[in-house]
Amino acid sequence: MSLSQLRHWVFDMDGTLTIAVHDFPAIKRALDIPQEDDILSHLAALPADVAAQKHAWLLEHERELAVASKPAPGAVELVRELAVRGYRLGILTRNARELAHVTLEAIGIADCFNVEDVLGRDEALPKPDPGGLLKLAQAWNVEPSQMVMVGDYQFDLACGKAAGTHTVLVNLPENPWPELTDWHASDCGVLREMLQQGRDT
Ligand SMILES: [Mg+2]
Repeated sequence: MSLSQLRHWVFDMDGTLTIAVHDFPAIKRALDIPQEDDILSHLAALPADVAAQKHAWLLEHERELAVASKPAPGAVELVRELAVRGYRLGILTRNARELAHVTLEAIGIADCFNVEDVLGRDEALPKPDPGGLLKLAQAWNVEPSQMVMVGDYQFDLACGKAAGTHTVLVNLPENPWPELTDWHASDCGVLREMLQQGRDT
């Protein structure tokens, strides 16, 4: 299987299509969450009224970040090329769907994604749970083996493996998770070259 034979692509958003700007330690300090805790899991375990307040703060903070989003190197060109080829494109993110749309607008590629193919934290269980990818596979009426998951973190790759898709790691110079990775590119620009030149088997 070569990359260019895969016509169904799912991207992580933050740090994959955008330059990562989330300052998670600062968010945890602001919300009084222990540094070692996962933010969303921590909030889920709180009393409903407290959780609602903190979720509202998080959404507002993330909206400011979304509006100021910058594209990762080569990300816009890669997504545009895939869209021109007629490939089906989706997003699987821990961000909220609405903010994912704001982010995609900010970097200029919102038109490449159907709204229902952008799965945020309210549409799918968090990665590495494979549910989001399986949901897209069903919606697109394809086998996961015909899909590729592109991300910048272990959970993106593990999610792909758990769902049975192919996986691509981007935006890291070295690959710490070779057992989870089918293709590795230092950024989306290099990935696009691999796609164009067939250097992908
Ligand atoms: Mg990421």
